[in-house]
Amino acid sequence: MINSHAAVPKPQNEPPLSYAPGTPERALLKQELERQKSECITIPLLIDGQPVYTEKRLKVVMPHDHGHVLAECCLAGEAELKLAIERAMAAKQSWEELPWEHRASVFLRAAELIRGKYRYQLNAATMLGQGKVAYQAEIDAPCEITDFLRFNVYYADSIFRNQPENKPAVWNRMVYRPLEGFVLAVSPFNFTAIGGNLATAPAIMGNTVLWKPASTAVLSNYYLIRVFLEAGLPAGVIQFVPASGSAISRYVISDPRLAGFHFTGSTGVFGSVWRQVGEHIEQYRSYPRLVGETGGKDYIFAHSSADVPALVSAMARGAFEYQGQKCSALSRCFIPQSIWPDVERRLLDVVKGLHTGDVCDFRNFLGAVIDRNAFAELVKYIDAAKASPDAEVLCGGYDGSHGYFVYPTVIRARKKEYPTMLEELFGPVLTVYVYPDEELGEMLDYCNASTPYALTGAIFASDRLAIAEMERRLRHSAGNFYINDKPTGAVVGQQPFGGARGSGTNDKAGSSLNLLRWTSVCTVKECYAPTSEIGYPFMQEE
Ligand code: NAD
Repeated sequence: MINSHAAVPKPQNEPPLSYAPGTPERALLKQELERQKSECITIPLLIDGQPVYTEKRLKVVMPHDHGHVLAECCLAGEAELKLAIERAMAAKQSWEELPWEHRASVFLRAAELIRGKYRYQLNAATMLGQGKVAYQAEIDAPCEITDFLRFNVYYADSIFRNQPENKPAVWNRMVYRPLEGFVLAVSPFNFTAIGGNLATAPAIMGNTVLWKPASTAVLSNYYLIRVFLEAGLPAGVIQFVPASGSAISRYVISDPRLAGFHFTGSTGVFGSVWRQVGEHIEQYRSYPRLVGETGGKDYIFAHSSADVPALVSAMARGAFEYQGQKCSALSRCFIPQSIWPDVERRLLDVVKGLHTGDVCDFRNFLGAVIDRNAFAELVKYIDAAKASPDAEVLCGGYDGSHGYFVYPTVIRARKKEYPTMLEELFGPVLTVYVYPDEELGEMLDYCNASTPYALTGAIFASDRLAIAEMERRLRHSAGNFYINDKPTGAVVGQQPFGGARGSGTNDKAGSSLNLLRWTSVCTVKECYAPTSEIGYPFMQEE
């Protein structure tokens, strides 16, 4: 638009639909689930928006019924990845020069398509491919993606408006240039919205992107990239390249034009990419921006003044929603001895009522865990706990015959150093350590320092002095800290998300802090009355 500083619409969170019996959304979602179950699609790469079919493929199955193939996904090899880089570089100039209001409009249009026309497609694909029950899929895809798009456009606009001070006859400007090169976005299986955000946040700031989705989230992610294209995203801005992690590290990470790496996933993978970037540091045109949100060992720490029913609700929802596969999922609890008998009785009672099974049966609270490897890992921990004198399995178990089912499992650790109190399991397994009330201070320090992570944590107490002391001692133990609430469920625009230490670079997804990483500022000073003087007054004779 000529002669205008348009104001970006103020964003609002997309409200999730309830899917309660009798609602229209329930019927529409069930219809879409049946439709997607009845077909087996081929997922191509999308290079410059055009489908590219390759020989190397993987099968996309339903975690709750691992014999059922939903799709075959083509994988990019060396030739396709190199082509995608070339095309992303070729698309750069016209994308970054597109007037901001038009660039922003692509994402605002995509948000409308996601919350409207494609709501059930994205929700159903997330349910079937990633094993979420209806409500969990709803708060992820479509709601969180819509929020990411609307809020990030708004935050980007406010970044661009952030300008320096001026003196008389001088105008200083900050130009928020996109990075020189391309951004690589590598996304995890557990949130469709994270994939969408990793790819679009740098694109909103004017960058072009290669997006490598996780193989177990590729169905919903494929539908999502198609929505971006339908919304008018110019071909070439986001190149959709499912590939193996090793192909990405061999052919993309070492490319001298890599300007940024936008990652969510495990701490181990992020560390290996960081090391690889370090090894190639002389080859890059600029220092690549490394932004990663990684693992966690998220906790609830309860005080003896805690409201027990609220604590138990937070434990059950925090640990078992989406089978404990949220990065923020609760996996260790510190409970004082004085309230433990009440907590234990109520918790076991609640867990008995949480059904695990087919996500298309809306009575289930949990589906299956994502894949064979995750299942095998969890089985190992549960079996070890059953055999250990240092632990007691209070409830839970598994059955992998038809789907990768792990039932909500509660382990009581007799030693605070028991492995499931320290290691990230990423499944519906909650470990509780019951501490003597008088050891509160020592136990808070232990909670803070006993794992390498610092992602989410929650405290439960009604004693205000205790709340203040717990918050003080646990200040660095979590990037998202909750008081009398579960440690999951961060909402874009309300609780910007991310953790420090081994949990990531804490650049807060869905905030201006994250968007700033995708820009390289040029400061421009223009002078309207340039001086012709050379010397300074102090140089004159006395
Ligand atoms: P993962 O690390 O196994 O995979 C993440 C992505 O990295 C996938 O796309 C995978 O294919 C890719 N990858 C694997 N090896 C690679 C390599 N060598 N080079 C480049 N890419 C490679 O993680 P996941 O199993 O998909 O997700 C679970 C993990 O993600 C958990 O540790 C969880 O805590 C973390 N997570 C963190 C957050 C957060 O905000 N902190 C959010 C979601 C998930």
